[in-house]
Amino acid sequence: PVVTRFAPSPTGFLHIGGARTALFNWLFARHNGGKFLLRIEDTDRARSTQAAVDAIFDGLQWLGLDWDAEPVFQFSRAARHAEVANQLLDEGKAYHCYCSPAELEAMRAEQKAKGLPMRYDGRWRDKDPSEAPAGVPPVVRLKAPRSGETVVQDKVQGEVRVANEQLDDMVLLRADGTPTYMLSVVVDDHDMSVSHVIRGDDHLTNTFRQIQLYRACGWDIPEFAHIPLIHGPDGAKLSKRHGALGAEAYRDMGYLPEALRNYLLRLGWGHGDDEIISTEQAMEWFDLAGIGRSPSRFDMVKLGNLNGHYLRQASDERLVELITPRLTALTGQDVDPGHADLLRQAMGGLKERAKTLVELTESAAFYLRTRPLALDDKAAKLLDAGGRDTLARFAQILAAQQNWRQDTLEEEARRFAEEQGLKLGQIAQPLRAALTGSTVSPPIFEVMRILGREESLARIKDVL
Ligand code: GLU
Repeated sequence: PVVTRFAPSPTGFLHIGGARTALFNWLFARHNGGKFLLRIEDTDRARSTQAAVDAIFDGLQWLGLDWDAEPVFQFSRAARHAEVANQLLDEGKAYHCYCSPAELEAMRAEQKAKGLPMRYDGRWRDKDPSEAPAGVPPVVRLKAPRSGETVVQDKVQGEVRVANEQLDDMVLLRADGTPTYMLSVVVDDHDMSVSHVIRGDDHLTNTFRQIQLYRACGWDIPEFAHIPLIHGPDGAKLSKRHGALGAEAYRDMGYLPEALRNYLLRLGWGHGDDEIISTEQAMEWFDLAGIGRSPSRFDMVKLGNLNGHYLRQASDERLVELITPRLTALTGQDVDPGHADLLRQAMGGLKERAKTLVELTESAAFYLRTRPLALDDKAAKLLDAGGRDTLARFAQILAAQQNWRQDTLEEEARRFAEEQGLKLGQIAQPLRAALTGSTVSPPIFEVMRILGREESLARIKDVL
């Protein structure tokens, strides 16, 4: 059975790279009818926070990436991790190392002089325990193979190999008895029966050591798929430190979760030339073979276009609900049932133009605003440059108009323009300025219908 997991460290928000990793794991599990598990890697006690844990849960929930079973908190499993290390000690597959910090420093300096990275030389590997210095708490190291190779058959990167002499005997338990990250990850993945480890390719080099550890424990090795990282538009690596790129930042900026899912999916995975892929379709199609091998660049314009698509697909009801708190924040006005009704009628016209909920909110605000409406600069100029006079003449026709239907209103405006030798825009724009306070809006006769006769005439009177 397929079991995947998402294993974030709660030291920051659910950033966009993490969200994509979670999405791929979730899709792979759903595609295969397997399980998607969540593990919070909170062993770095100084940097892990409850706020970050909450932000991760929140971000995943908002994205609709539901996980199976209770989340596992890695720190709470420290005793189990130590138990595995001690088992390896008993079996002679791990050993105590009593090197002092000074000795390790000397080793590091020696390697550095040769231009090599730090590699522990294994000096305690075969020593007799009786040689242990008194009063020095040891670390536990894995007795890693010294010859041969460790090979990763990666589902994305292909076959990647390293000579074992390049890897030293890694620490499993620190001198204070706490497990290292490497030990915790392997024990947890094993105990959670993880079948596929899908994660960022910054973890590829860890995989060699993890495989050595699986072997020492005599456990089945999961499949690995290391996904290329996401780069910023400038080509630089997108990192956790890009705080503004947490999932909640995208929610705040007004993106829909389904749009972000589609965008993140396409960021690193492909199915022919398809750009718009619904989540249902993604669940049906997702495979590891479709993951690309080169890093992808984050493209806000593409995300905006996709979001616009999903906004147009979303129901008017849902969009009204989504923009209601935003509208209140923007206009300082509560959205009462009457407003909500009006917004539902208006939504079809509004959503054609918006790329985000922020834009949608801004474009809807005029429906709610109280009179007299503030005019933006362009609208004010347009009225001053003759628009007001034209509007004054047309206002008389409107005042007499009892039949406040969209098509009737439009007909009247056309007739008026023709009689006056004007283009339709020369009356439509002053109307727009008066009714919306702006020079861009949904079709103006639709706006007039939705605002209603009384409010429309009153707004026109305000600017005259
Ligand atoms: N906790 C690690 C991270 O946040 C992920 C470890 C893993 O997926 O194996 O990058």
